[in-house]
Amino acid sequence: MDYDLVVIGAGPTGLFAAYYAGFRGLSMAVVDSLPEPGGQVTAMYPEKMIYDVGGFAAVRGRDLVQGLVDQAAPWKPDYLLGRKAEKLESVEGGLELTLDGGDVLRAGAVLITAGIGEFTPRPLPAGDGWLGRGMVHFVPALAAHAGQHVVVVGGGDSAFDWCLALHPVAASVTLVHRRARFRAAESIVRQVRELGVRLVTDAEVARFVEAPDGSLAAVDVTVTGGADEQLRADAVVAALGFTADLGPIESWGLEIDHRAISVDSTMATARPRVYAAGDVAAYPGKVKLIATGFGEAATAVNNIAVALNPEAHLFPGHSSNVE
Ligand SMILES: Cc1cc2nc3c(=O)[nH]c(=O)nc-3n(C[C@H](O)[C@H](O)[C@H](O)COP(=O)(O)OP(=O)(O)OC[C@H]3O[C@@H](n4cnc5c(N)ncnc54)[C@H](O)[C@@H]3O)c2cc1C
Repeated sequence: MDYDLVVIGAGPTGLFAAYYAGFRGLSMAVVDSLPEPGGQVTAMYPEKMIYDVGGFAAVRGRDLVQGLVDQAAPWKPDYLLGRKAEKLESVEGGLELTLDGGDVLRAGAVLITAGIGEFTPRPLPAGDGWLGRGMVHFVPALAAHAGQHVVVVGGGDSAFDWCLALHPVAASVTLVHRRARFRAAESIVRQVRELGVRLVTDAEVARFVEAPDGSLAAVDVTVTGGADEQLRADAVVAALGFTADLGPIESWGLEIDHRAISVDSTMATARPRVYAAGDVAAYPGKVKLIATGFGEAATAVNNIAVALNPEAHLFPGHSSNVE
C-alpha cells in the first residue's frame, strides 16, 4: 500500500483528519481539487472572523486554516493539491483511488471529507486564458498583491471581502459589478464604500489588455448607460462564486442523499474501508459546522486505525500524554 489512509478533501475536516492520522501513526495523503488547502474557508471566507471554533474567541478563516496545516505538519502528510479524486476501486487488502490524470493511490482506507463537493469557480468569460497570468479566483497570499492595481469582479460577500482585505496592501482596488445592487451584506458594502474603494456598477469586464511583456496591463470595462473605460490592472480577482458538485463520488456505490453520504456512528459508509466526515457526512441530527467536522474526523480516524489493525485501541490515549 502507498498509504494507510487517503483523505479526500483538504478542508478543515480533512486537515484535522491528517493531524489525527499522524497522531495514530498512520501514513496519509490528502487530495484536493483546489490548489490551496482550507476548503470552503479558503475559497469563500478566508478574511472573515469565525466565532464558534472551540478554543478561539474569534479566529480569522485564513489563520484557522494555517493553524490546521501547522498542526498536521509534523506528520508530513503528502498533499496532492489541484488533483481530483475520480475513481475508487476495492482491491485485495485495500482500495485504489484514481486521480485525474490517471495516477493511482493504493490505500488501506479512504476518508471522504469532500464537504459540499468539488468547487468550480464561476468563469469570467473575458478572462479566458488569463488564469494564473494575472487573474485569480481567490487570494491565498495578500502579500502577492502588495503595491498592485487590483480589479475585483463580483457583487457578493467574497468580492467585498477581497476588497476589504486587499485595500491595505494594494496600490488601488476597484470593484466591477454587472448590476447596481449587490448580493453582499449591507454592512460590508458600507465598509468598502467608506474605505473609498471605487465601485463601477452596471459594468462588465469585456477584455483583458496585455502589456508588451505579456503580463496584464489593464481591463476594458463596458458600462451600461455610461461611458466605457479602461482600468489599470496588475491583477483581476474574479470573485463570481463557485459551483459545488460531488461529481464522481456519486458513482462510488455509497448511500448518498441530498449530496451527503450516509455514515454510521463510526463514520463508516456503506462500503468497506470507506469513511466520511465533515459536511459531506450525514446521519440523523447532523449539524454542519467546523467543530462538528473536527469531532467526526477524530472518530473516523480512530475507527480506521482499528479497522486497519484490529489489535489497535479505539481510544488513542490523550495527546497531552505524548512527549
Ligand atoms: C460563507 C460561509 C461562512 C461560514 N461560516 C462558518 C462559521 O462561522 N462557523 C462554522 O463552523 N462553519 C461555517 N461555515 C461552514 C464551514 O465552512 C463548513 O462546515 C466547513 O468548511 C466544512 O469543512 P469540510 O472540511 O467538511 O468541507 P469543505 O470545507 O467543503 O472542504 C471540502 C474539500 O473537498 C474538496 N473536494 C471535494 N470533492 C473532491 C474530489 N472529488 N477530489 C478532490 N477534492 C475534492 C473540495 O475542493 C474542498 O476543498 C461557513 C460556510 C460558508 C460558505
